[in-house]
Amino acid sequence: MVLPTVKNIAKLCDGDKAALLEALQDWGLILREGGYPCPKRGTQLKLRPEDDRVDSWIWICSGYVQARKQKRQRCRTRVSFRTGTFFERTNELRTSHLSLFQILGFVDLWVSGMPLNFISRELEISKRVAVDWASFCREVVLNAMFDLKTKLGGPGDPVTGAHTNSIEGSWRGAKAVTGPAGRKKAHIPGNLAKYMFFKRWQELRLDRTTEFFRLAGQLYNPLTEHPPDDRDNEEQEEEEVEEDQHA
Ligand SMILES: [Zn+2]
Repeated sequence: MVLPTVKNIAKLCDGDKAALLEALQDWGLILREGGYPCPKRGTQLKLRPEDDRVDSWIWICSGYVQARKQKRQRCRTRVSFRTGTFFERTNELRTSHLSLFQILGFVDLWVSGMPLNFISRELEISKRVAVDWASFCREVVLNAMFDLKTKLGGPGDPVTGAHTNSIEGSWRGAKAVTGPAGRKKAHIPGNLAKYMFFKRWQELRLDRTTEFFRLAGQLYNPLTEHPPDDRDNEEQEEEEVEEDQHA
């Protein structure tokens, strides 16, 4: 697995589309073929390059649909590879559609504790967009923390070490790693979660960026965001039929 450092990310985004895709799938940010059925049920979507850019693909259904008493037709469902993934969040920022390099690089610099001014200069993104992405990143660790708590229950969470009586100590640590900007009230829960995960990953000698990507991939999964419709009750006339092997 390629270690997701800014240097490696820059190298990947500078040419080999297949290698970039492989890395994204290793990191858990993009689903693999065979694991993403068409929303119209059945056939597995296939991932194809969308255009000449190194960082764009499109999921395509090569199955067929058949309306009742009609000729079967190609399904032709197309889904952007960003749909339902962490990368889709860039769509909310109408001012700036970030490249994958900018998003992946942002994460790597953010988990390394770089100031937003530095990150925005380095990746050529506006400060405002950097502020938004920092908040998306905090959401990832915060959600992961809540998720762990739901799964494990109780105050003594062995994964994050989030014992109630150690919150204060964590908060001191969190202030140390986030700096004055991290003390904004709205950012406190996210920064605490960030601190707890970072501390844990450090103890386990895990790579922060890789682990962050794993959490982002778990939170933003196209299959859970947009589950395939159960069309049994509503649209009975259209049903996907077996894939044509000669197509
Ligand atoms: Zn389909």
